[in-house]
Amino acid sequence: MAMAMSMSLSLPSSSSPSSSSSSAASTPTRSVLGSPHLVSLKGRADSLAASTSGSFTRLPRPSPCKSQCQSIGRERSKRTVVAASAEKSTEQVLPRGASWTVHKFGGTCVGNAERIQNVAKIIVEDSSVRKVAVVSAMSKVTDMMYDLLQKAQARDDSYSATLDTLYKNHKETAITLLEDGQDLNKFLGVLEADINNLRAMLRAIFIAGHATEPFEDWVVGHGELWSAQLLAATVRKMGLPCVWMDARDVIVVTPTGKQQVDPDFEASEEKLDKWYSRFPSDTVIVTGFIASTPDNIPTTLKRDGSDLSAAIMGALLKASKVTIWTDVDGVYSADPRKVSEAVILKSLSYQEAWEMSYFGANVLHPRTTIPVMKHNIPVTIRNVFNVAAPGTEIRGVSESKPLESIATMDFVKGFTTVDNIALVNVEGTGMAGVPGTASDIFDTVKGVGANVVMISQASSEHSVCFAVPEKEVDTVRLALLTRFRRDLDAGRISKVEVVKNCCILAAVGQRMASTPGVSATLFTALAKANINVRAIAQGCSEYNITVVVDQNDSIRALKAVHSRFYLSRTPLAVGLVGPGLIGKTLLDQFKDQAASLKEEFHIDLRVMGITDSNTMYLDDTGIDLANWRELIETKGVPADMSKFTAHLQSHSLPNTVIIDCTASAKVAENYYQWMEKGMHIITPNKKANSGPYDQYAKLKELQRQSYTHYFYEATVGAGLPIVSTLRGLVETGDKIVKVEGIFSGTLSYIFNSFNGTKTFSEIVKEAKASGYTEPDPRDDLSGMDVARKVIILARECGLQLELGDIEIDKLLPESLSAIDSVEEFLEKLPSFDADIEARRKEADAAGEVLRFIGIVDVTANKGAVKLVRRSKSDPFAQLSGTDNIIAFTSARYSKLQRLIVRGPGAGAEVTAAGVFSDLLRLASYLGAPS
Ligand code: ADP
Ligand code: ASP
Ligand code: MG
Repeated sequence: MAMAMSMSLSLPSSSSPSSSSSSAASTPTRSVLGSPHLVSLKGRADSLAASTSGSFTRLPRPSPCKSQCQSIGRERSKRTVVAASAEKSTEQVLPRGASWTVHKFGGTCVGNAERIQNVAKIIVEDSSVRKVAVVSAMSKVTDMMYDLLQKAQARDDSYSATLDTLYKNHKETAITLLEDGQDLNKFLGVLEADINNLRAMLRAIFIAGHATEPFEDWVVGHGELWSAQLLAATVRKMGLPCVWMDARDVIVVTPTGKQQVDPDFEASEEKLDKWYSRFPSDTVIVTGFIASTPDNIPTTLKRDGSDLSAAIMGALLKASKVTIWTDVDGVYSADPRKVSEAVILKSLSYQEAWEMSYFGANVLHPRTTIPVMKHNIPVTIRNVFNVAAPGTEIRGVSESKPLESIATMDFVKGFTTVDNIALVNVEGTGMAGVPGTASDIFDTVKGVGANVVMISQASSEHSVCFAVPEKEVDTVRLALLTRFRRDLDAGRISKVEVVKNCCILAAVGQRMASTPGVSATLFTALAKANINVRAIAQGCSEYNITVVVDQNDSIRALKAVHSRFYLSRTPLAVGLVGPGLIGKTLLDQFKDQAASLKEEFHIDLRVMGITDSNTMYLDDTGIDLANWRELIETKGVPADMSKFTAHLQSHSLPNTVIIDCTASAKVAENYYQWMEKGMHIITPNKKANSGPYDQYAKLKELQRQSYTHYFYEATVGAGLPIVSTLRGLVETGDKIVKVEGIFSGTLSYIFNSFNGTKTFSEIVKEAKASGYTEPDPRDDLSGMDVARKVIILARECGLQLELGDIEIDKLLPESLSAIDSVEEFLEKLPSFDADIEARRKEADAAGEVLRFIGIVDVTANKGAVKLVRRSKSDPFAQLSGTDNIIAFTSARYSKLQRLIVRGPGAGAEVTAAGVFSDLLRLASYLGAPS
């Protein structure tokens, strides 16, 4: 490796304008020794490993060769000056100014022959007086170039096959485009020579196992050299004379860091003038991406740098506009690959565009705006595949030309993410008030060439927190530990802490940071999606607010904030456990309501998974609710709660809710871990809230801390608003004295019907036949179900009762309770008729009825389930069917004027409706309009 670092090797010239028309054999080599032949390069490359000394220098580029100029001259129209004659006759002075427009075509725009033709057509049809088209390499080519390098350095000789593919692809594209003739032959000659040069160079790198940055830059720039020549030849073939420019002959930049360069405008202007005097043309096709250093060494503008090439050309020419053609309609409010609801922004200020691209909107290279804003040149991003779309205009903002707004909160423009970031936190009391600590920290970071993406310093000065790309963080940490060794030993700095697996989320917009309420809305949206914010930075630029969140939350966070600002739409991912009677009904209700939920309430409800105890069906985008039964039957897989949970976590919607429609204690055991994962829970299942108190308390505690919601309205009184009414009273400061009610639709039906016309056993059998009871009616008659509801309400009132604390009146004698089979029980139930009939008659004689009620006596700190007698004029006596009734006695609602809730309290439809209304409440808590 050391050998390679110090090797003395010249870079072969790639096909500069001079060589594009010259034969491969005469392609000159840029050599320290001035030996301009490929052959010599090959020889030298082979002996590279033995080369141990010498520095890397480069002679000036050879001047453009005559043959190209002649060829251009032959094709030149009346409008352009013949370049060939330029060499002989007067030099052409570059006419700078608004007569020039600049286009830039990204890799996908020139991805194949047909696309190159399309691009050529756009150039030909542009009516500007003078135009420049900056072009990227054909799509994937630069990636392949980097891949070649990586392979060669890793001594993997499959680079050779990749090189063959590159050759083949470009050759085929050229043949399709140029068909035959001189231009094709010239291009193929150049291509072959370049490939040979590359092969030699890569062989050298393979032997050395290393390549220096200039070598790498030389290699990777070939994609642009080829695409520019292909495009120029195609434009010429369409009848418009043009020349192509190897931007290394014109654009001069100074590399300032691993991923950054500073354009040297003065030097570039000089070179451009010289270049133009040799190749005056009204249409120039320019290679994007590549440039030279002030020492004339090939370099690049780094990944995605062609946008910057176009901006530099725009600034050098003082062009009237720069159009960046790509594969999307413009700049979206968020990365359209991550947020399908993202919208096109009509216009952006230079600063907004800069912030968006800096923080990850790779539709534009972050530095693109810098050269153009100096001259106030507007940049438009347009779609080469949809020329009808006007695109996004990026420009300066003045009062006479404000930016158009499209969102209601138009101070927020877009949201972006930068993935794979690590946070570094340097902390210590000894840092406070010590001048220079921060500068020492960043000096150290700079020393290892790491890129600080964001800084946030607590005003206490006790800590400095900053973000760097994750791949650089280990080096940064080590450097800091070394630099601050003594401060660490002395305790002035307590730690250098690294948090990996983070991502940056940036909200960008003119003056957004200074508009009251924007940050609050942003943070609320994140909190509601249960996204933990690890660090915050709000630049004083007022153009952005930046937060650091877990990498795993990246897309969810992006969607949550985007939907909050742009759509007011609340996406809800639903997992349904237990598609039994209630679950099924609920899914059908979802199906019927989905459209109106979307339109009226802006709730985008997607059922991502359904599971029962045997089978589950999962879907990545949302189950088709018209077919869920068939889908489970035909495509269901064995139920697995951990897979079900993982699936519900894996999608990128910001809000997830699990709806437990079972009556299972085992399912309820999952609530805690679901909440820990940020999922909301809605259920008619009583098991969690009526189980052991400490578990219940733990669950509620977690729910309060975690920004998750837990709704269980349907656990008591099905769809009736009982839990919410009680909670409303408690939360508004009322003091609950007592809650009494008929909480069981089954027992309500049985005792409402028990009026002397039929025997008790007949009524029970009837209720069972009508589906009002549990399969074993004793589950209702035992009072256990009522006791669970009593416990739920008691705990809601603040009582710390256990199920065992509830006194339950035993309705049935032991002889009937002990029977095993339901059939036998029903057979023997008439033996109970006489006893209960006697009690009914006794009550009747006193003007009363029998009612089986649940009681929460808050004052006495007790709960009970009792068979009581109530006056026939009492509201409890006047129920019909399966109605429930609940009466609240409180400080506000006295014994005589109790607050009463009454209505149907059993049945799948109303229970499912209760669950559904919890879901709507959840959505409104999460931001949907209520
Ligand atoms: P080109 O090769 O034309 O330079 P890029 O791939 O560099 O194209 O940039 C265009 C891509 O940027 C789009 O295809 C899109 O997927 C992505 N992109 C990311 N964020 C945004 C955004 N906010 N608006 C538009 N496109 C974006
Ligand atoms: N071809 C280069 C790249 O892929 C430059 C560009 O396309 O902007 O990074
Ligand atoms: Mg790009």
